[in-house]
Amino acid sequence: MSTAPIYDITPFTALDYPEHLAAIFWFAGCNMRCSYCYNPDIVLGEGKISHGQALDFLKKRRGMLEGVVLSGGEATLYSGLPELCQEIRKLGYKIKLDTNGANPTMLLRLLEKGVLDYVALDYKAPKQKFQAITKNKHFDHFSLSLSELLQRDIAFEVRTTVCNELLSVEDINHVINDLFRRGYRGKYYLQHYIEDTPHLGRIKKQKYQFEIDKLSNQLDVIWR
Ligand code: SF4
Repeated sequence: MSTAPIYDITPFTALDYPEHLAAIFWFAGCNMRCSYCYNPDIVLGEGKISHGQALDFLKKRRGMLEGVVLSGGEATLYSGLPELCQEIRKLGYKIKLDTNGANPTMLLRLLEKGVLDYVALDYKAPKQKFQAITKNKHFDHFSLSLSELLQRDIAFEVRTTVCNELLSVEDINHVINDLFRRGYRGKYYLQHYIEDTPHLGRIKKQKYQFEIDKLSNQLDVIWR
């Protein structure tokens, strides 16, 4: 177990946890390498904040914050996450997990312990493009995470980062079809890739237009 799994803490956000004031714990490391990732320091960096220090931070913020967002990097890589979540909840905070879904074993442990209040799941790409975009070959792991969430009574959202050089409107429609076919009826969030920040990999200047008018209307699509 890493002694310092957290790279940094954002002490306050009103944007990252729907309807809650929250802190963000940024976990170091990731099991993907998306070229458009705008957190290369976190993905490639070492943790600096220990489990105990993170809890001490929350003890001092009681009454000021309602929730904690577990983000990264990929928070589910931290083997002590179930215990950390239990302790966070004992302090009275709600927990939102941001995950790429590539660690269904940990997600399942968290769901079985009932320590999560909300999950934001990244659907990175349809199966045929998943490895090229994430450098992770386990679409099946992601798919299992999605199935686990669909089977349970937990609030969650699905989202995709759209970089026009990597994903076309046909790709997004493929994702929408898959979600709809599997029974997802929540909102589907699309977020624009941020061009003017440092990235993990090389991205060509975006020259393709994303043809919004060709988007499937099977799900309620929301751009952020
Ligand atoms: S964008 Fe990709 S590489 Fe970056 S943190 Fe998310 S899953 Fe990891």
